[in-house]
Amino acid sequence: MEFVVATITLNSERARIADDLEQFRAETGCDRGSADRLGAGSDDAVATYEDEFDEGIADDLQVSLDEVDAALARIAVGTYGVCTDCGEGIPEKRLTALPASARCIECQRKQEQR
Ligand SMILES: [Zn+2]
Repeated sequence: MEFVVATITLNSERARIADDLEQFRAETGCDRGSADRLGAGSDDAVATYEDEFDEGIADDLQVSLDEVDAALARIAVGTYGVCTDCGEGIPEKRLTALPASARCIECQRKQEQR
């Protein structure tokens, strides 16, 4: 099976997330060191909280990026559309809605319950 549409979708998704991440890091100066610069003051707790919040967003973006990369890698080796847990085919509907899906609905549910 060919996954031309999925490849295009994933590539544009990848570019979008990478852009977001880059922009986000540029805006927040999130790549470490910001806490040091903001330190030495009574706003420490707030600064720390905001840093953690920002890092959470950056982490989420990074996770999405990794998922898209993994999906593209699966297309390259021909295992795309196959559940990474049980080896069953992932329904096309699910792949259309979530092209980066690594698991079938059942296994994803189990994973999220952990
Ligand atoms: Zn599965």
